[in-house]
Amino acid sequence: MKKYNFFAGPAILPKSVIMKTAESITDFEGMGLSIMEISHRSKQFVGVMDKAISLAKELLNAPDNYEVLFLTGGASSQFYMTAMNLLGQNQKAAYINTGSWSTKAIKEAQHFGQVDEIASSKDQNFNYIPKDYNIDPEAKYLHYTSNNTIFGTQFQNAPETDIPLVADMSSDIFSRPIDVKRHVLIYAGAQKNMGPAGTTFVMVDKNALGKVNRHIPTMLDYHTHIAKGSMFNTPPVLPIYVSMLTMQWVKDHGGVTAMEKKNTEKSELLYSEIDRNGLFVGNVSAEDRSKMNVCFSLHNTELEKEFLAISKEAGCEGLPGHRSVGGFRASIYNAMDIEGVQVLVEVMKEFERTHG
Ligand SMILES: *Cc1c(COP(=O)(O)O)cnc(C)c1O
Repeated sequence: MKKYNFFAGPAILPKSVIMKTAESITDFEGMGLSIMEISHRSKQFVGVMDKAISLAKELLNAPDNYEVLFLTGGASSQFYMTAMNLLGQNQKAAYINTGSWSTKAIKEAQHFGQVDEIASSKDQNFNYIPKDYNIDPEAKYLHYTSNNTIFGTQFQNAPETDIPLVADMSSDIFSRPIDVKRHVLIYAGAQKNMGPAGTTFVMVDKNALGKVNRHIPTMLDYHTHIAKGSMFNTPPVLPIYVSMLTMQWVKDHGGVTAMEKKNTEKSELLYSEIDRNGLFVGNVSAEDRSKMNVCFSLHNTELEKEFLAISKEAGCEGLPGHRSVGGFRASIYNAMDIEGVQVLVEVMKEFERTHG
């Protein structure tokens, strides 16, 4: 039976990318060797790294002063690495708290400088994006989480400010066009929308680095990785390869503008069924709804198990909501075709016919 993958992360990858990866795991580029057993310094892998970097810059239309890195340690390591590299001991940074991930980013940044939590939606279990806030003009940067994977809210646009932005785009990178030059740094764990778990994407304005005067351990200094082209130590070869193939897939399918169109269609289809169907209710304020993670519930929570069982029979996997929210979460990243959403919507309609 065909499966529709709604997992939040690690998450769906394009079928063609998985097939190509399977081939390269046995025989990479006709070398007669697996991609997993060749040197990262081989010309074949250096070609993969170069291609991954150039595709990322091209897809996001990044100016020349931006460097692309593929690191390890997850987006979670960027919570401290960003502050360690960009925020001086006596300096201040502004943070918008829109969920568990921003909360963790705030906690880590506090080790390195003064953190101003300028707005938070914690009062309503993060079901909206706060819009009223003031930023101290002295702030070195404003950190925001562009898409809140767990709660299903998303900044429809980057926050309006002249302060340079730092963004955690783990769950919506390459899902829509972004204005890179307003950001000093963008980071993303690969495993939501750009590849498998194991590498972390960083795009950084190199001119913004080297301005804090603390000692930074070699591996945690962005300069190290820029100077060595993400090969100061052995990079996560396979995750970078699969991320490269996924970026190539995005490009072949019309780039981030086409992805945005597709993601808008999919999410509108699903949200309109949630709004129409009397059994279900959306979890977050309508204007802040995420196009990546659609969070919803049943009015009658006693029917949850049954709805999950029926959706599973239709091939829908990964629908239970995050344990801190409950209900359902349909993650509909780039690689999810509209067909998957149509199947889910049909299940919801059928559930209404039988339980309404
Ligand atoms: C998943 C996620 C993270 C954590 O990523 P790791 O790579 O597991 O550290 C951080 N931020 C957001 C927005 C996420 O969705």
